[in-house]
Formats: sequence, C-alpha cells, structure tokens
Amino acid sequence: MPSILDLNRDDPFSPSPGELARLLAGEGPDDRLFAVARDTLLSTVGDGIYLRGLVETSNKCRKNCLYCGLRRDNSNVFRYDMSADEILAAMETGYASGLRSFLLQSGELPDRRHLDLVEEVLLRTAGSMPGTRMVLSMGELPEETLARLRTAGAHRYLLRIESSSSDLYSRFHPGDMLHNYAARVAVLRNLRSSGWQTGTGVLIGLPGQTRDHLAADLMFMKDLDIDMCGMGPYLPHGDTPMMDVPGDMPSPGERVLLTLRMIALARILMPTINIAATTALQTLDLRGLEMGLNAGANVVMPNLTPAGYRSEYNLYQGKVQVDDGLEEMLGTLRARCSTLDRKVMTGNAGDPVHYSLRCGGGVSR
Ligand code: SAH
Ligand code: SF4
Repeated sequence: MPSILDLNRDDPFSPSPGELARLLAGEGPDDRLFAVARDTLLSTVGDGIYLRGLVETSNKCRKNCLYCGLRRDNSNVFRYDMSADEILAAMETGYASGLRSFLLQSGELPDRRHLDLVEEVLLRTAGSMPGTRMVLSMGELPEETLARLRTAGAHRYLLRIESSSSDLYSRFHPGDMLHNYAARVAVLRNLRSSGWQTGTGVLIGLPGQTRDHLAADLMFMKDLDIDMCGMGPYLPHGDTPMMDVPGDMPSPGERVLLTLRMIALARILMPTINIAATTALQTLDLRGLEMGLNAGANVVMPNLTPAGYRSEYNLYQGKVQVDDGLEEMLGTLRARCSTLDRKVMTGNAGDPVHYSLRCGGGVSR
C-alpha cells in the first residue's frame, strides 16, 4: 500500500492508524511530511493567513480539568468577567485594523447572566461591525443555549475533545458527570449537525499519551468531518494536580515536533479545513508561529484581551503576547509571514473552505 505522502490528492485513501503513528514518530521523514502538507495547503486553501481576534471574556469556570490553571479549585487566580462594553471595545480595536473574525473564549459558565452577556455582544456586533464572523469557545453548553447564540449571530464554535481516547480523557478529568467524555462528544456532534462551523482539537504531549492515541485523534477529527482544528502542546501549570500525575511527558522539543506533525497530518487528511498555529505552540518555541504555518496552519489568533485581564487568563504558564498591543503584533506577524511567502489577510472573515463546500458552495446562515 502506498504511503499517504506518495498519493495524489484525488486518489481515495484511508491511511491506517499504524501509518499515522509512524509519521508521528518522524519516519516521514519530517522534511517530506511538511513539504507535502505545505503543497496540500497551497493547492487547496491557498497561501492566506486568517486572523481571529481573541477576547478572553472571563476566567471563571465551573470545571476542574486537571491540567488547566483556570480550574475551579485553583484559588490563586484573580477571577474576572469582562462587561459587554469592554468586550466590544476590544473587538472594535481589531475591527479598525481589518480583523473580521473574533473568538470569545471563557471558562465554562452556562448561567443565565453569562449567556445574556454573550447574546448582547453578538447582537451588538451584528449592528456595529458588519461582515464579522463570531467564534465561541466556552465549553459544553446545552442545545437550546447553542441555538439561541447562533440565532444571535454566532457562526463558529470551538470545543476541543482534548483526547479522543475516553481512557486518557478520564485520566485528566475528575470522574463526575460534569467531566463526561460521552457528553462532550455529544455536544460536538450536535454542533456539527446543527449548522455551526465546527472546530475541535486535542492536547499534545500529555503524560502517558502515545502516538497511537494521537493517530486515533486524527481519525476522530476526520470522521467527525470538522471545519476547523486547534491543537497545541500540553504546558504544565504549577497550580494544578497534573503536576503530580505519573507518566512520562515528552520533552518540550518533542512536544513541539509532535504538534507540528499533527498539524501537517491534519492538513493532509483534511485539506480544506482551517488550522490554527496556537498560542501554546508559540509559547513552547519562539519560532512556533513560523513552524506551525509552515507545517500547514492558516489561522493566527492575535490576543485583544485588555492587558490587565490578559495576564490573569492563564490556562498554562508563560503565555506569549501577554504585553503586546495589536499594531505591534500585526507588524511582527506581517514581517514573519513575508519570510514564509504567505499573506496576512485583513478585511476577510476567512470562512473554512471545508464549510463552504459542505454547504454546497456558499456559506449558510
Ligand atoms: N473552557 C473552554 C474553553 C477555554 S479553555 C473549554 O475548556 O472548552 C481552551 C483550551 O485550553 C482547552 O480546550 C484546553 O485544550 C486548553 N488548555 C487548558 N489547559 C492547558 C494546558 N495546561 N496546556 C495547554 N493547553 C491547555
Ligand atoms: Fe475550565 Fe476550559 Fe480550563 Fe477545563 S479547560 S478548567 S473547562 S477553562
């Protein structure tokens, strides 16, 4: 059977998990894996890099994921909520610089007050920032709530499965109903079947995670037929119980390489989706941005959260861009992308080509 690196894109192929695991071990070899991913990118979604202005709207969370610095039981966090006016002001700075898509991210807060706030922001955005695509990443929300937020103007939802192995998932989450693998998968499936542009992703380099787990993660994402993917290396946070979980964790360099191989394989397996070069990847390696884009990513998320809040939104330690202003970030981004022969797209919401294709060529609302 030919390797997926030897096939034409038009050939039907179903890579075996074993082959994916070998490529994740670097047997591509990597140069060739990244070159095929880049060719795939250029011939399907093109050389554009699309921007999502990230606003971290609240660091309060009802959950207790063992790896996350924002977990409910971490009392060393100054908890905040941004107001609707603050969120819109942050987005307007981005809009003035040409950003046409914004990601509102927070801990999981399914209470009425939070949902009313998000709804207000969505409705006001539709009026004041035309042509904007809103992305939400706020954990597992009930079906009716998701429907309400979509009606208010949200288009995209990101919900990482974190790990597609229910066994690994349960190792890194408390064993109660709030942290239930099957429930998370059900929310993802509901998003995918109810018209949302749907994104998911996984943590890479968790203690005890094998290449077979990661290969299965890629197959999970392909089977779900997602539109967007955001994957990043696991970065330990000192105030979490994960610091004490036994199991070998790959070195930082290995986690970077594994993330790049995952991005490249996601691009080859799902050519027309949007893939982010995540902040976690940039945090682990100074050249993470360039390397992620070169491996097949086409989305970058400049952080628009006001500095005072941004420094309190610590999923992990050492987050980059904590002090940078938007113009400074965009200037740096343009300079870095021009060395890669890629174009930073402003004035463009950057819908995933995959979504447009599955909706019959256009973008449905
Ligand atoms: N609360 C929402 C969205 C915010 S958290 C949710 O959990 O879906 C966004 C992502 O941060 C999570 O999906 C997780 O993959 C990532 N994250 C949390 N802790 C992390 C860590 N220690 N290292 C790397 N990524 C982490
Ligand atoms: Fe909360 Fe998301 Fe962190 Fe889990 S990963 S504790 S849901 S913010």
